[in-house]
Amino acid sequence: MTDILPAGFVFHQSNLQAFKTCRFSFLLRYIRKFPWPAPLAARTSTFEQDLVAGSTLHSLIHQYFLGIDPELLVSSAANFPDARVSVWFNNFLASQYATLTSNQFPEHSLQITLDGSLLLAKFDLLTLNVDTIQICDWKSSRVIPKRQFLQDRIQTMVYSLVAARAHPLPSRSITMHYWEAGFPDQPIIFTIEAAQLQRYEETLTDLITCIRSLPVEQFERTTDRKKCSYCEYQSYCARSGSTKDEESFNNWFEIGLSELQGQTKEQTEF
Ligand code: SF4
Repeated sequence: MTDILPAGFVFHQSNLQAFKTCRFSFLLRYIRKFPWPAPLAARTSTFEQDLVAGSTLHSLIHQYFLGIDPELLVSSAANFPDARVSVWFNNFLASQYATLTSNQFPEHSLQITLDGSLLLAKFDLLTLNVDTIQICDWKSSRVIPKRQFLQDRIQTMVYSLVAARAHPLPSRSITMHYWEAGFPDQPIIFTIEAAQLQRYEETLTDLITCIRSLPVEQFERTTDRKKCSYCEYQSYCARSGSTKDEESFNNWFEIGLSELQGQTKEQTEF
């Protein structure tokens, strides 16, 4: 086993998704912690605006669950320069997800050990019921993602597995809710059964084992240049001007949003 990862390395949805998207980006960002020469220059201003707006929505919803007066939050959202934030937050308040109960844990982190490696998830909202664990993830996509796209996401696998293993009650099922702020009446909900969890565990274990086994020279640049189109290392890799691609947008947006929220801060102890 080669394993170039530092001791105590924590896997999470963002670094695993980065590896799946491009091994070289994983190496630069999470191993070498490499600064990028022109971090955002090659990305569109739309991308950056969407990141800030999405992060602000998350912050407002978090404050709501912490008990801040909703009227203050509505007012704050209304004053935000991007008008979408106000619409999204009002959509949230009118949704089923704004119900407050005592068993909710907003912006909640859980970490498990998976085959000797640390795996972290930070949930937008975790609700522990007697018979279910409900995971909610707030999204602010311009186009509602396809169900199949979300079902196969690393995020769905990591969140479901970490929640189930950290709260191991055999009678509980897991439901994963992707709520789109711009499409509030169309949540995409998955019920994750035990057999699916087992498959997720095998997939993630295989992925982590692969990462740990690779020598440094095999953390290669992707050959699919569409994946470069929103990557922060475009300048470094001389891949600027790559053809825009929706999947690439979604991949790098989720990674960027997680990092903007500080969700994926590397941890060296637990
Ligand atoms: S620009 Fe392309 S090749 Fe370079 S790290 Fe990003 S995705 Fe990988």
